[in-house]
Amino acid sequence: KKVADRYLKREILGEGTYGVVYKAIDTKTGQTVAIKKIRLGKYKEGVNFTALREIKLLKELKDPNIIELIDAFPHKGNLHLVFEFMETDLEAVIRDRNIVLSPADIKSYLQMTLKGLAYCHKKWVLHRDMKPNNLLIGADGKLKLADFGLARIFGSPDRKFTHQVFARWYRAPELLFGTKQYGSGVDVWAAACIFAELLLRRPFLQGSSDIDQLGKIFAAFGTPTPFQWPDMIYLPDYVEYQFVPAPPLRSLFPMASDDVLDLLSKMFTYDPKARISAQQALEHRYFSSVPAPTKPALLPRPP
Ligand code: ADP
Repeated sequence: KKVADRYLKREILGEGTYGVVYKAIDTKTGQTVAIKKIRLGKYKEGVNFTALREIKLLKELKDPNIIELIDAFPHKGNLHLVFEFMETDLEAVIRDRNIVLSPADIKSYLQMTLKGLAYCHKKWVLHRDMKPNNLLIGADGKLKLADFGLARIFGSPDRKFTHQVFARWYRAPELLFGTKQYGSGVDVWAAACIFAELLLRRPFLQGSSDIDQLGKIFAAFGTPTPFQWPDMIYLPDYVEYQFVPAPPLRSLFPMASDDVLDLLSKMFTYDPKARISAQQALEHRYFSSVPAPTKPALLPRPP
């Protein structure tokens, strides 16, 4: 069945945060696409208007490491977002026990992630919901960030859906303390969690509640002191935690090189104002030292 006289619907790819995702053929270009059908629910009119205006801005985001939003249109009370089709995602790569990730492979995946982030941050767009299954991988092996800006337009994904619980593991401490004025640092923290997950081959900080998430963060990096993070005590949900000292980062990542540990610690900086930016991270010596990042076409992928 044709949607909007242009897209031939194929099978359902999955159920996401905002609604069903279909595979489809773009009859205008012959390209395979993924169409995200977003339920607008109540406040239809209002959401429709602001969402469409903001979506227009997302269409302007064009970068080799960002999923291209090809088209966006309302249809039968739902908003349809058309994206380029991608073969797999980073979560599938990390989870596949048959895949060995070399230090060069990890460097390549992190570099592509940071390139996509740096591009969007330069345009003042935040992702806000970075996690491995939002990092899609194309047939050519290139990694691209998906769902950029959607969390802001459609609100934080609904936490009552179980698959969304995982997003907590990638939340920056300032978000867990209820900050309302967060910036691009939240995406860098999430990218650091993904970097750690590539190294460990399991999610790094698996909190079972927001409080427990902070506990896991403090156990890994030590309780932040007001000296490290002066604005912390003014955050809306700030509560004093019992002091725990930081174990050496080396003990958490025994196989990592010094370059890896240095970049990790700069991305996992508590004070979002002191945290390294995506662009600065790309300029870190980790990316210019050996081994060189693996070329996308040579990266290991699930069958
Ligand atoms: P979530 O909200 O849980 O991140 P999504 O709404 O992004 O989920 O996606 C739901 C399903 O659709 C997932 O299985 C995902 O792999 C698939 N999907 C999303 N975008 C694309 C795409 N561009 N190409 C191929 N599959 C996609």
